[in-house]
Amino acid sequence: MDKQFLECFKKQKQHQEKVGQISYNQRIRMLNALHRAVEHTYRKDIIEALATDLGKPKVEAELTEIFQIIGTIKHAKSNLHKWMRPKKVATPLAMLGASSSYIHEPKGVCLIISPWNFPFNLTFGPLASAITAGNSVIIKPSEVTPRSSEVMGDIVKTIFKEEEVSLFQGAVETSTALLELPFNHIFFTGSPAIGKIVMTAAAKHLASVTLELGGKSPTIIDSTANLDAAAKKLMWAKSLNCGQICVAPDYILVEEGIKDKFLKSCKKWLVTFFGEDSKSSESYGRIVSDKHYKRLEQHIENAVSSGGKLIAGGQVDAASRFIAPTLIDNVDPEASVLKDEIFGPILPIVTYRSLDDAISYINTKERPLALYIYSRSKANIKTIIKNTKAGGTVVNNSNIQFGNHELPFGGINNSGVGKSHGFFGFEAFSNKRALMKQHTFGVTEMLFPPYTGFTEALTKFAVKWF
Ligand code: NAD
Repeated sequence: MDKQFLECFKKQKQHQEKVGQISYNQRIRMLNALHRAVEHTYRKDIIEALATDLGKPKVEAELTEIFQIIGTIKHAKSNLHKWMRPKKVATPLAMLGASSSYIHEPKGVCLIISPWNFPFNLTFGPLASAITAGNSVIIKPSEVTPRSSEVMGDIVKTIFKEEEVSLFQGAVETSTALLELPFNHIFFTGSPAIGKIVMTAAAKHLASVTLELGGKSPTIIDSTANLDAAAKKLMWAKSLNCGQICVAPDYILVEEGIKDKFLKSCKKWLVTFFGEDSKSSESYGRIVSDKHYKRLEQHIENAVSSGGKLIAGGQVDAASRFIAPTLIDNVDPEASVLKDEIFGPILPIVTYRSLDDAISYINTKERPLALYIYSRSKANIKTIIKNTKAGGTVVNNSNIQFGNHELPFGGINNSGVGKSHGFFGFEAFSNKRALMKQHTFGVTEMLFPPYTGFTEALTKFAVKWF
């Protein structure tokens, strides 16, 4: 065990014990400090780091990172009073003389392990929730986006005390060492494969977990859909951050008769967004690393060599880690793009004849983080929702569920465990502590031993009537 981690962990644990419930004012102070850092002091560094690590256009950096974090903080600040208030609940008549409520208390010392695709948003978003709930936090950001992790390290060191929030840089070994510590809660965002490793490590200490994972998020487009609007939104959702988004549409299930018209619209919108040559567009980013570039290039080669037809894109450039927004039709069901999570700007098209077929196809795969429906048929929308399971669903749009702080965000089974964002994030980092107060003589005392005919009759009465 690294001594530095252990010392920091001990300091945070002592801090939690000494302070007890971190006060409302202290939480607001910390949230304000993070808010100021992201909106003002470090804004330029954040934009520069995202351009360096991901080739992220400035508008995308502002919209998908800075705006999201600030929105999370503002929402938390305006709701914190309400969330921290004890919640009264009813007490059964059989417990007459007592009152009941529950409070949200901080879990204690928490670990946040984050990914690289929205490095700031997916680190500082959960951090804001952890602070809102009154915890101390150790952060391990991704090693894949080093400049972003460096800026986050500077921010954390400057605005927080070590016992409040600390950040350690590093890759697998750092995560592994940190996971040996008896954290009270672990919040992990990343792939399902690593999520299993994290959950196994958490089990050793029975730490609770929130696992924000990924997988293959399907999109169904039926013949009643507004095809041009669907194509526009989907081409945006799949090219934003180069498709390196956990909720990005992973594959399209399109009804047979409308496929050609839909694909024509998709091609039109790609040209409208990025011109004829997306490589020279300033509105289009890059793949994060050579490893991920190769993985995506192999996806295209594999799909095309097994009979897939390129509808759009397919252009790649290893030197700049560029992969054009790519649409592939006639994909072999065994091709890797239909087996593994794509996490890049490649969209395979699958044709279906009946809605039942589309639903069955989705249900043969792991439960997704997102399921998108493009349709104007209320009956079809209802049927799809009723017969599938997903972390979240958007009708006639994609990706936007992430931005509503009032909604629970997270997957189910392979796509995630637990929920985050807004109140659900506060809840994830809180223990719901039940409180009962006995005010007067309790009826239950009449049931104490020695058991007599009277206690037996009273028990029978209670079972029947309460
Ligand atoms: P990843 O699982 O490879 O890495 C995530 C984090 O885990 C990193 O900090 C990494 O250093 C650490 N890590 C890697 N190997 C580890 C190990 N053996 N033990 C302990 N820690 C380890 O994921 P990634 O490549 O950074 O991100 C892509 C994945 O994340 C995709 O599957 C995507 O869908 C998912 N994701 C999910 C969400 C969500 O909110 N649900 C958001 C973004 C990304």
